[in-house]
Amino acid sequence: MPAALSAIEYRIRPLDPGAHLFEVSCTVPEPDPAGQVFRLPAWIPGSYMIRDFARNIVTLRAEAGGEACGLEKLDKHSWRAQALPAGGALTLTYQVYAWDLSVRAAHLDTTHGFFNGTSVFLAVEGQTGRPCLVDIERPEHAACRDWKLITALPRARGERGAARAYGFGRYRAADYDELIDHPVEMGNFTLASFEAGGVPHDIALTGRHDCDTARLMADLKRVCEWQQALFGAPAPMDYYAFLAFVVGDGYGGLEHRASTALMASRKDLPWPGMEGVPEGYKSFLGLCSHEYFHTWNVKRIKPAAFTPYDLSVENHTRLLWAFEGFTSYYDDLALVRSGVISTEDYLGLLGKTIANVLRGAGRLKQSVAESSFDAWTKYYRQDENAPNAIVSYYGKGALVALALDLQLRAGSEGKCSLDDLMRLLWQRHGLGGTGVAEDGIFEAVREVGGARLGAKLARWLRNAVEGTDDLPLARLLKSCGVDYRAEPGSKAPTLGVKLAGGNGGAKLATVYDGGPAQAAGLSAGDVLVAVDGLKASAKDLDEMLGRRRAGEEVEVHAFRRDELMRFDVTLGEAPADKIVLSPARRATTAAAHLRKAWLGG
Ligand code: ZN
Repeated sequence: MPAALSAIEYRIRPLDPGAHLFEVSCTVPEPDPAGQVFRLPAWIPGSYMIRDFARNIVTLRAEAGGEACGLEKLDKHSWRAQALPAGGALTLTYQVYAWDLSVRAAHLDTTHGFFNGTSVFLAVEGQTGRPCLVDIERPEHAACRDWKLITALPRARGERGAARAYGFGRYRAADYDELIDHPVEMGNFTLASFEAGGVPHDIALTGRHDCDTARLMADLKRVCEWQQALFGAPAPMDYYAFLAFVVGDGYGGLEHRASTALMASRKDLPWPGMEGVPEGYKSFLGLCSHEYFHTWNVKRIKPAAFTPYDLSVENHTRLLWAFEGFTSYYDDLALVRSGVISTEDYLGLLGKTIANVLRGAGRLKQSVAESSFDAWTKYYRQDENAPNAIVSYYGKGALVALALDLQLRAGSEGKCSLDDLMRLLWQRHGLGGTGVAEDGIFEAVREVGGARLGAKLARWLRNAVEGTDDLPLARLLKSCGVDYRAEPGSKAPTLGVKLAGGNGGAKLATVYDGGPAQAAGLSAGDVLVAVDGLKASAKDLDEMLGRRRAGEEVEVHAFRRDELMRFDVTLGEAPADKIVLSPARRATTAAAHLRKAWLGG
């Protein structure tokens, strides 16, 4: 039996919370004698944008055998350290500036610390398959004396206390890939623990809040158990943690193999005595559900392009519509199927998803396959023209999933659904461990749908994701007992703009292609200050225009840069941009049956 590889040893401690600095060291027992290269990821899996985390490394030194050794910077995120000619361990010590309040990087102050391994742990080139040990040390600062720690990273063997003691100390990972897939939160978070499907789950809430954790746990338990049942026992993790940072106004999440990092608005959390399921809470539950679904879809069922990840450059795949889009379809669907929200609530959420996709003309120019491929430079780097130029692989991807699900259900008379497709992908790629080829989803649809339906839907799916036609949702929803109605969301005629809001004038965030404002010469960034000689603001613009009719001309004054300009705008018909879905009153028995199988209730 070959000797076990010696572990790469990391140590991380909050050096100075006031200065937002972590100190990290990495000891390599057997460095490359020709010079050991270290590299920090340029991006974090799940967030498809080059972020160059190494720019936050402030100081860096290398030593071996008690002596400083040479260190050469190779490129924006790589260094080479000289090893001792006689061999022996090499240690790199560096400081990382951590003041990025997002789920993607690292954040440290006297109230809490948070980091993703991608921001703080340098990879040891050529040795990323070795096991890793990490000592996470308590900060010495007086304000941090009572801090606890939570992560899904397993405790090192022989560590004192239970498997999960919420304490500082030594943790382990089987390799570098695992090391960077378990974010760590430290501070005085609220901890709520529950079991779902026999698996212990934790929710850690950092930041001020008045959350009714009992309600949150009860709802999340149902959602988690529904998802576990969808894919089949046993769940692929033996522990799961929701790490939520609670702020006044924020939203975001990033998936990991046994945890998720979330950013949540305080007002979106349930409070003691809350009745029903308010919109904000639906949105927070949807976010939790989304990231949890990724435990299967993208963390384990992965595009072949991500197996393995190359964290130094963009990794292109045309499949994000399946990994983000299908996950976006199931996030809200899991809420209704698990009984956490009603059918009416669900149809309300679905109507909003449809309306969001239909609002931008970009959907007629870019396919979801193209949107996936270009995520790095387009979806993640949206500018004022984005709604006119691109489509979201989240939103339209969710609608593709919906359309596929409805067709599988109706076409098989209820014998088959998207759930079967997800299970097939799970069996083959999740448990099997092979990546999904770029045409792998089409193949899986062909298989799951059977000879005739499968072949037909595989062709349909390819056209849907590679083309830009709107999906026939009204017809498909009707076949499953749901009525679809499009109506104007506003009574006022339209300028064809999206406002950025703010005080003072109404700043135009986007000028929609083919709309009245664009025809009159207004541009994104213009600050609209008056309509027909009367002061206008973002707040009262709709009311002012509500007294006019489509076809009428209004005089608009706006600043472009510091120059006041005048425009004559012919108001347009209010677009039918609100989608109202409701259970069909006169559904056929077959359609009503399909709806019940689809949404429960
Ligand atoms: Zn996602």
